[in-house]
Amino acid sequence: MIPCSNPKAQYLAHQAGIDAALRAVLDGGQLILGPEVKAFESEFAAYIGVGHAVGVANGTDAIVVALRALGIRAGDEVITTAHTAVATVAAIELAGATPVFADIDPRSFTLDPAAVQRAITARTKAIVAVHLYGQSADIDALQALARRHGLRLVEDCAQAHGARSAGRRLGSIGDVGCYSCYPTKNLGALGDGGVLVTNDAEVAARCRRLREYGWTESRDAAEPGMNSRLDELQAAVLRVKLAALDADNERRRALAARYDTALAGTPFELPAVRANSTHVYHLYVVRTRERARVQAHLRERGVAAGIHYAVPVHLQTAYRGRIAGASALPETERAALEVLSLPMYPELTPAEVDQVCAALKSAVS
Ligand SMILES: *Cc1c(COP(=O)(O)O)cnc(C)c1O
Repeated sequence: MIPCSNPKAQYLAHQAGIDAALRAVLDGGQLILGPEVKAFESEFAAYIGVGHAVGVANGTDAIVVALRALGIRAGDEVITTAHTAVATVAAIELAGATPVFADIDPRSFTLDPAAVQRAITARTKAIVAVHLYGQSADIDALQALARRHGLRLVEDCAQAHGARSAGRRLGSIGDVGCYSCYPTKNLGALGDGGVLVTNDAEVAARCRRLREYGWTESRDAAEPGMNSRLDELQAAVLRVKLAALDADNERRRALAARYDTALAGTPFELPAVRANSTHVYHLYVVRTRERARVQAHLRERGVAAGIHYAVPVHLQTAYRGRIAGASALPETERAALEVLSLPMYPELTPAEVDQVCAALKSAVS
C-alpha cells in the first residue's frame, strides 16, 4: 500500500544524522531546555528570517501561547476557518477566546478576506490565518484588514514550513507564526514538537515565560503559565531535518509537478498555486464530486488517499451549533465533501506517483 504520508521513510532518509544527534544528547545528559533547543531556535529564526523563535511542545500550544502573549483573553473574538485541523480552533478556546468562523476561497481553501471582513465585530481582536496544504492564505489582504481594524494576525504555519509569499517565508508576516513539528509535517520531529516565531522581542520573551510555568529568569511566576517545552531530543532531530528542509520541499514540489502533468485533462480539479507564492505541498489535494467511489477504487489498487478534512470544525460534536459564523460556510462545507489527498512525502518515488495517477485515471475512464 502506498501511504498518504510516511514518517518512517523520513527517518531512514536521515538516519545517520538523526542517530548521531540523539546519541549526542543522551551522552550530554541535558534533556530539557538546553543547548539543542537554543541552537534549533536560533537556526529556525534565521531560516524563517525573523528575530526570535521559541520552541514549544506542539503546534496547538504554539497557537495558545501566541494568542496569550499577544494579550488575547476571555471575551475576545478570533476569526478563523473551519476548514482546518480542529487544533486551530481548540487552541483559540484554550487561550480563553471565542472563535468566529469565516468561509474559504474555494481555489486556495484558505480564508476569504471578504468573508473575514464581514465577520469583524466590536469584540474582534485577532485573525488566525491557516496556510493550508502547504501554501499561503491571502496574507497581504488579511494583513491589510488586520491593520485597518487594529487586529492581531497569527499565522498557523503547521502545514507550510518553508513556503513563501512574495519572497517572505510564511510565519514572518503576521505578529506571530506558529508551527507544528508533528512527525508527518514538512518539518517533523520523532514525536510531538512545535515552534513559534516573531519579530517582537517582548512577545518572544512573554512566550518563553508562558511555556514554562510563567517563570521569569529568577524563577518567579510573573503570570499563570503552562508547561509547553520542546525537549532536547526532539530539538536535536529537528536541527538535522531543518538542514534538509529546502531539499525535501523541492522533492515535494517535483512530485507535485509530476502529478500536475499526469492528471492534466482529467476530471479531477488540481491544486491551484497562488500567484507570487511557493507551495511546499504538505498535501497534494485534488477535488472530485465522486470522492467515496474514487477513494475506494484507489484503495483496491494499493493507494491510501486521505481526506483533510472530512468534517469541518463547525460540524464536529464539540463545536456544532455554538460557534458564530457557522451558518454561512457554503464553500467550507462543499470542500469537505470533495477534497482528496494523494500520497505526498519527499521519499515517494516518481514510479509510485505514476502508479497513483494510473489508478486515478482508471477510476474515471
Ligand atoms: C497539525 C496542525 C495543527 C496542530 O499541531 P499539533 O502539533 O498536532 O498540536 C494545527 N493547525 C494545523 C493547520 C495543523 O495541520
